[in-house]
Amino acid sequence: MLKLLLALWLGQPQGFVSRDQWGSQPQPMPEELRHSPQRVVLHHSGVLWKEGDDPYRKIRALQSWGQRDKGWPDLPYHFLIAPDGHIFEGRDLNYRPESNTQYDLDGVVNVELWGNFDEQPVTAPALQATVELLAWLRQVHGLRELSAHRLQAPGQTTCPGNDLMRYYESGQLQRQVQERHPDTDD
Ligand SMILES: [Zn+2]
Repeated sequence: MLKLLLALWLGQPQGFVSRDQWGSQPQPMPEELRHSPQRVVLHHSGVLWKEGDDPYRKIRALQSWGQRDKGWPDLPYHFLIAPDGHIFEGRDLNYRPESNTQYDLDGVVNVELWGNFDEQPVTAPALQATVELLAWLRQVHGLRELSAHRLQAPGQTTCPGNDLMRYYESGQLQRQVQERHPDTDD
């Protein structure tokens, strides 16, 4: 109850896990990575999610791997969503993300769902959390444009996987976001 009240007070979506809560240890962010957020791009981790996997371990491992092996100061994603619907806060929105593929990252806000959706379905709680997060990004940060990694980097990746892609391509995801946060402008 207290967590829910705190989330409402801070204006964050339900199930939000802040950087402090998961123990983020970002390195100082280079000024040249500063940008103004323009559009949300959807990703999957591309790794099969197995029962018993711990998102807290995974997110810390991803952050330290990126810092050690890739020279990334912080997570390549701004938000990461677990199959149980928890939303983890990643890189500061005001800095461009990272990618293993070639495309223009300026203005991109990266949202990743854990799992491999070419091989497993998106869970209902993860899909609901995605809707909540996208509605919040729209309401609080004015981010209306939504895309998917494979559309930004055609031929380079199947990310975010077929099962997540079908919610995007059918327009179901966008409709649910619109219903969650009706927009009088459109
Ligand atoms: Zn991706």
